[in-house]
Amino acid sequence: MNNNPPPTSPLIGQRVDVLDKGWLELLDLMPHPDSAVSGDLAIVNAARVSFMGESKGEERDKKLLFYLLRHRHTSPFEMVEFKFRVHAPLVVWWQWARHRTWSFNAQSGRYTPFREGDFYVPEVWRRQSADNKQASEGELEGPDGEALTRELVAHYAEGYRLYEEALAKGVAREMARLFLPGFAVYYTWVAKVDAHNLMHFLSLRMAPDAQYEIRVYAQAIFTRFFKPALPWTAEAFEQYVLNAK
Ligand SMILES: Cc1cc2nc3c(=O)[nH]c(=O)nc-3n(C[C@H](O)[C@H](O)[C@H](O)COP(=O)(O)OP(=O)(O)OC[C@H]3O[C@@H](n4cnc5c(N)ncnc54)[C@H](O)[C@@H]3O)c2cc1C
Repeated sequence: MNNNPPPTSPLIGQRVDVLDKGWLELLDLMPHPDSAVSGDLAIVNAARVSFMGESKGEERDKKLLFYLLRHRHTSPFEMVEFKFRVHAPLVVWWQWARHRTWSFNAQSGRYTPFREGDFYVPEVWRRQSADNKQASEGELEGPDGEALTRELVAHYAEGYRLYEEALAKGVAREMARLFLPGFAVYYTWVAKVDAHNLMHFLSLRMAPDAQYEIRVYAQAIFTRFFKPALPWTAEAFEQYVLNAK
């Protein structure tokens, strides 16, 4: 039984569906949305500590925040923190975990058995890009794509059957998982980051050259959590970083 009181903020505890079976949930936010000081104001107040001041009214506060972001005065943006729970295919985890400025704790496949059918099935098959070895472009259409999806689902089922067979024979979970389709298996992790490093992550992972599967998580973070939590910062970030590229 969960004895935790329900979250008072509509943002905290909100879960957004991503990909076919994935999701993203905001677990916590600092400053808390119920706090007297908004996230944007926490950034402004942190900057004003340089000369021991605080809020000077909405217009001047917003102007200062835009100034900070434009001139890469980054440390005040580290005063705001986001904590997420993420359910995503391992291919997304692999790319996300490269961002060393996040703190993570991930599900252990040695401890928790994997669930049947919890594998990523893409809606479409993207074609290999002709001029970028790391990228995709366009889609595979017609019967070829449908046949590949059927084969993929059958492949997952067979991998899972072998996984269960190995478990039934007494093989340890840490070894039985070798039978699972590695990149496609859904994983769950908790991830915490400050707003400065989150913007760095978003600028890289929302970019058109980021892999689609992580891009949709980055976009969901930005539109569903970052923008509502930090409206001024999001506006400045769009103006000076996203749209400036
Ligand atoms: C489109 C794309 C393709 C990619 N392809 C590849 C690939 O083929 N192979 C591959 O291995 N990776 C690849 N990556 C991952 C990439 O190289 C970075 O590891 C990843 O994007 C994390 O970026 P980061 O180091 O800036 O972020 P973070 O680790 O969050 O670090 C943020 C910033 O902090 C500073 N920092 C953090 N740690 C250190 C440190 N130890 N020393 C110095 N400064 C530090 C740096 O300024 C860094 O930019 C790719 C990333 C993208 C977006």
